[in-house]
Amino acid sequence: MVTEEPTKLLYKRVLLKISGEALMGQREFGLDPATINRVAEEVKQVHALGVECCLVIGGGNIFRGLAGASQGMQRASADYVGMLATVMNALAMQNSLEQIGVDTRVQSAISMQSICEPYIRRRAIRHLEKRRVVIFAAGTGNPFFTTDTAAALRASEMGCEALLKGTKVDGVYSADPKLHPEATHFTHMTHHDVLSRDLKVMDAAAISLARENKIPVIVFSIHKPGNFARVMLGEGKHTIIADAPPRAVNA
Ligand code: UDP
Repeated sequence: MVTEEPTKLLYKRVLLKISGEALMGQREFGLDPATINRVAEEVKQVHALGVECCLVIGGGNIFRGLAGASQGMQRASADYVGMLATVMNALAMQNSLEQIGVDTRVQSAISMQSICEPYIRRRAIRHLEKRRVVIFAAGTGNPFFTTDTAAALRASEMGCEALLKGTKVDGVYSADPKLHPEATHFTHMTHHDVLSRDLKVMDAAAISLARENKIPVIVFSIHKPGNFARVMLGEGKHTIIADAPPRAVNA
């Protein structure tokens, strides 16, 4: 008798960070509904595997604090505008997920009671336990930070077993693979490697926080259909930034 090998789920609770730009599709600015729907489908697949999912979405498709500051705006004010942009993206993603039957909650680091919950750690954990996808909006709630750092912070607070960075490329390379086709793809590296080589995977504060809290960071392409789910099973092309290799939670 042939017994089917059970699928090996590597993580029970994860946080996916996607940049605002990942939701732009072919546009130069803002949100592309088809792209958001596609990313929502990726999240739905992973949720259906039984993984508890948190999301952090950037705001770079709408506004970046640094860009505002370079045009004369006070940096802190510009950063608040950037944080509000992340709330718009979070609400758009919530809408897409709920339209395909995934229960969600948005929690914002800046209180906006009329449109979402305020960030309350224990409440967020309860939502995850009740199988809701929790979308964390408004970054850390503080200027001079980024949503990468917010992602590492929330992943630490939620006790996530991995922090995923969904990008345009399928992992970390020795050089930009678009400009240097001969660049080497890394399957595994340590947080220290990323920091010491100054690799632009996530900002240094985010990598340091993930390192301190022993959270692996996984870089993968969010644009290849089914890829997020494959990574949860240790399959597909991606880079794991961690000190130890992952072990299946249901092995
Ligand atoms: N931001 C901030 N504090 C945070 C997170 C974000 O001030 O904790 C602001 C900052 O201005 C940033 C903008 O929000 O430029 C959008 O976030 P980010 O650049 O991280 O988005 P992404 O590049 O991931 O789309």
